[in-house]
Amino acid sequence: MNVTIVGTGYVGLVTGACLAELGNNVFCPDVDQNKIKLLNAGGMPIHEPGLEEIIQRNVEEGRLRFSSDVAASVAFADVQFIAVGTPPDEDGSADLKYVLAAARTIGRHMDGFKVIVDKSTVPVGTAEKVEAAVREELAARGLADMEFSVASNPEFLKEGAAIEDFMRPDRIVLGVATDAGGERALAALRELYRPFNRNHERTRVMDVRSAEFTKYAANAMLATRISFMNELANLADKVGADIELVRQGIGSDPRIGYSFLYAGTGYGGSCFPKDVDALCRTAQENGLPLQVLDAVQRVNASQKKVLLDKVWARFGHRTEGRVFAIWGLAFKPGTDDMREAPSRSIIEALLRAGATVRAHDPVAQEQAARALASDMADQPDLMRNITFVAQPLDAAQGADALIVLTEWKNYKSPNLRALKNALRSPLVLDGRNIYEPHAMAAAGLTYMGIGRNNAA
Ligand code: NAD
Repeated sequence: MNVTIVGTGYVGLVTGACLAELGNNVFCPDVDQNKIKLLNAGGMPIHEPGLEEIIQRNVEEGRLRFSSDVAASVAFADVQFIAVGTPPDEDGSADLKYVLAAARTIGRHMDGFKVIVDKSTVPVGTAEKVEAAVREELAARGLADMEFSVASNPEFLKEGAAIEDFMRPDRIVLGVATDAGGERALAALRELYRPFNRNHERTRVMDVRSAEFTKYAANAMLATRISFMNELANLADKVGADIELVRQGIGSDPRIGYSFLYAGTGYGGSCFPKDVDALCRTAQENGLPLQVLDAVQRVNASQKKVLLDKVWARFGHRTEGRVFAIWGLAFKPGTDDMREAPSRSIIEALLRAGATVRAHDPVAQEQAARALASDMADQPDLMRNITFVAQPLDAAQGADALIVLTEWKNYKSPNLRALKNALRSPLVLDGRNIYEPHAMAAAGLTYMGIGRNNAA
């Protein structure tokens, strides 16, 4: 099939590359000309394991192309996916300006039936707004009767494992209208996703509003598990229990399961914070505030400060002359995405308190430098106090503490003796609970995890 994917971000690029890999012809337009230039020069705007090879192969074989020619991208395919960003608006609701701009572009250039698929995460009711925007553009061209159908196909991939998630989805949610246009949309999307259903049927067909809601419900559930465990971890610290053992104890119950029960420094990234916020906003607008999710957000905001509180308790609130080693900047392993990464607020607070920071991340250092420079725009000279180093141990050299913020694989089994020798004072603050407290103690390191005080 011919398919257009509007927006070449984390979702659009992966979707485009994977659909091309299955034999479809895919056109990926983006308004960011620099991104298009980079992609056409064989460069990669993001770090996502396995993506570069798939893109290279499919570009070479002529199934995947990148362009900022929007008229050509609309003409290219009957199925037009919208995979542009939906950042939070000032009030926490999802900002739909990019989605609606993409919809208008389609309306301005289409010359026959189109299936317009919202893949971006959008609040319930957005498909109707997309429809209205397209209809308005068509009417302005005197084509008010031209047919099209807007469907919802939310994306559930995880950055860092996006190719695997896209190629082997747990489910494919398709929200379609109940009219003739909806039937045509469903037929096209079923055909497109047919290869994913060979082993068993993964498609869940539903009405558009339920599909839009499903994406928010999924992220809200996952964020709830994280905040739940973080709150219990803080209590475990107080009562002398080890939250890691508690996690294993409850995860073994199949009704609970092991996933998403890790205590840490709070959830971040480009999805959970904004999606939980947007769902809470939708609830408020409908006069039915979501009390559980409001608490999930409050717990997350305070969890981001837990590690810092440990730093202040140890060193005081002014940290001039102190050096902190940071391992991990990206909001999670496998990505260079720095959106809402907990490392940002922690490093910002350390720099503002006068500390020197030496940071390591296997892939996100460039993105982190840009993100932090913008966070610190009011005090740019403090950026002189952060350096990014090539090896994890270089960061620890002469530092007063090591703070682990992303559970990259290469941090999991460090040479503890070398680490102890490198540090000026042997303190490890483990924001991801990746170390064994007893092993750390045996190596002469003072260990503080999240919710593991008794085991230190
Ligand atoms: P992103 O910011 O990485 O990419 C968005 C891209 O869209 C950018 O390249 C931007 O230039 C482009 N764009 C904006 N307006 C455009 C327009 N009018 N025409 C063409 N291109 C345009 O965003 P992302 O992380 O890929 O997320 C996209 C959507 O998918 C969001 O709604 C997000 O919530 C959702 N989502 C993201 C993930 C994830 O892990 N990142 C997972 C599931 C769902």
